[in-house]
Amino acid sequence: MSETSPAHGHAHALPAGPALLRARGRRLTRQRELIWAALTAEPDAHLSVDQIAARVQEELPSVNASTVYRSLDVLVREGLVLRSELGSDRTFYEPAHDHRHHHVVCRGCGAVAHVHDDLFEDLQTRVDKVCGYALADEEVTLFGFCPACRE
Ligand SMILES: [Zn+2]
Ligand SMILES: [Zn+2]
Ligand SMILES: [Zn+2]
Repeated sequence: MSETSPAHGHAHALPAGPALLRARGRRLTRQRELIWAALTAEPDAHLSVDQIAARVQEELPSVNASTVYRSLDVLVREGLVLRSELGSDRTFYEPAHDHRHHHVVCRGCGAVAHVHDDLFEDLQTRVDKVCGYALADEEVTLFGFCPACRE
């Protein structure tokens, strides 16, 4: 938990995934444990189902991606894991945070960074003024080029 991404500026405390799962009466299977380990291996990682499945398969070779997908679904429903659509066919998973994040996705290499609500400051007010729409309380995904790719 010592690393912070430069665009984001702080580290996150992780939810106590496995403990919470048990507290909610959900079984902590070896597979769920391995999924959680994959999701929390690096700070601020955004992993696809295939990436997670590959890590689980290192320990449990018989597990396939669709099984991992169903397990992730349980973790998402329990509020422990966040699922984000970041671009047309890209779905990423990460441990849930205690505050909302928006995502910046690199068009070059697919890297993902977090930004916070304060980035948008008075956007809500300005949109309201311009067209009378009230912005929904949702996450926003922005696309661009990461520091490495813009060089
Ligand atoms: Zn944050
Ligand atoms: Zn990039
Ligand atoms: Zn994220």
